[in-house]
Amino acid sequence: MALKAIIIGGGIGGLTCARAFLDAGMQVELYEKRDLDSMLSGPGGIFIQRNAMRVYELLWQGKIQKQLYQQGAKILSGGFFSKQAKPLYINAPEFVKLEDLGICILRPELQRILYNALPEGTVRNKAAFTDFSETSDGIRVSFADGREAWGDVLIGADGLYSQVRARLNGNEKIAAPVYSGMCCWRGWFSQNNLPLDQRYSWGEFWGRGNRFGYFDVGSGRFAFYGFSNTPAGGNDRTMGGAKKAMQAIFSSYAQPIPAIIETLSEEGIYRDDIFDREPLGMQWGRGRVTLIGDAAHPVQPNLGQGGCMAIEDAFELVKLLRIRAEKGGDIPALLRQFEASRSKRVAQVFTVSRQVGGLGQTDSAFGCFLRDSIYWLTPTWLGDLQFKWLFDYQPQWGLEDGEKS
Ligand SMILES: Cc1cc2nc3c(=O)[nH]c(=O)nc-3n(C[C@H](O)[C@H](O)[C@H](O)COP(=O)(O)OP(=O)(O)OC[C@H]3O[C@@H](n4cnc5c(N)ncnc54)[C@H](O)[C@@H]3O)c2cc1C
Repeated sequence: MALKAIIIGGGIGGLTCARAFLDAGMQVELYEKRDLDSMLSGPGGIFIQRNAMRVYELLWQGKIQKQLYQQGAKILSGGFFSKQAKPLYINAPEFVKLEDLGICILRPELQRILYNALPEGTVRNKAAFTDFSETSDGIRVSFADGREAWGDVLIGADGLYSQVRARLNGNEKIAAPVYSGMCCWRGWFSQNNLPLDQRYSWGEFWGRGNRFGYFDVGSGRFAFYGFSNTPAGGNDRTMGGAKKAMQAIFSSYAQPIPAIIETLSEEGIYRDDIFDREPLGMQWGRGRVTLIGDAAHPVQPNLGQGGCMAIEDAFELVKLLRIRAEKGGDIPALLRQFEASRSKRVAQVFTVSRQVGGLGQTDSAFGCFLRDSIYWLTPTWLGDLQFKWLFDYQPQWGLEDGEKS
């Protein structure tokens, strides 16, 4: 009998994981608490970088990758700038000997591509996971509306506030995540006649305690984000709305930033607080239950790699379980092997994300001068080393030398 997986969560990690299970010849059911329309929505855009794109090259005969290239925009030259638009660190695909560093795409378009890659009936919406129990030969899963599901393995892909993670620890609710100290506004705009520098497909501009970034997401559209140091739980009501709040912070930036904000409509701006969680270490789950993506390792979004790690997780997990299908093998042991194999890389993303966030959000005048000067003076090849290891990931369905089945 083919192994049957139950996935909780229809975000990037869960949908990718479902496709990987099907490619590996296994059965899968995905349960998502939101309705379909809401599941296929999402604010602003996202970087799917080359490391994660290599996973999509392997899945569904490369069809996801092809659609991402068709609908999104290639990540080409771009980098960090001062708020006066002086380039501080610019990288280009050549630094890893590639033609592009992946793609950027609007979130709803990514979600739809991933959803459409699954046969009808795979995703079950309006199913909020509440609990699981393990039997001698499988796992029973229950949902808020009384539904139940059975499988051989349970994968929590249910994000930052993972209920699967809470139940793994015997808790009703997961503990609060760590607040980064900054909020984020995001959305997208049409290029129209904006004075965007055509040499770059993306750019992030660093001010004092705030930064603004924008990136090409294809078809004449760009996604934007703005970060600002602020206490948790804030909102823009006292400022008269998100657009005015952003203008108050970013109007002193060089063009095109004030011009971009001027084009935004209030309804097109989404604001939230940014969190992460300390890495879990070598073990994330127990028995027949594991976690992937933000459920296991949410990071600050300073490298554009949180979702990419969820995509890598999804593939590496299914790859190991496929071995069980071929050779027989203990499911809990394979899940622990998967978690241990991922722990070092995701911890590194967590650490570097916090470091880059700390630099980007520096708020003293001297600290900003020092930061901008160091980035300006550092040779590009040295700056590249900070990110090159991310692109070295080469997924493959077979085991690599030295990996044990
Ligand atoms: C401002 C910002 C910018 C970012 N930019 C990038 C970027 O450029 N590149 C990148 O790679 N990453 C980026 N990230 C990170 C990325 O968004 C996350 O890492 C990624 O979405 C995690 O995917 P996931 O599938 O693990 O979780 P999620 O996307 O959070 O999906 C979890 C799903 O589980 C569902 N769910 C939750 N609870 C239950 C339940 N009880 N029952 C059933 N379903 C449930 C949710 O409704 C949701 O659909 C960014 C994050 C932020 C905040």
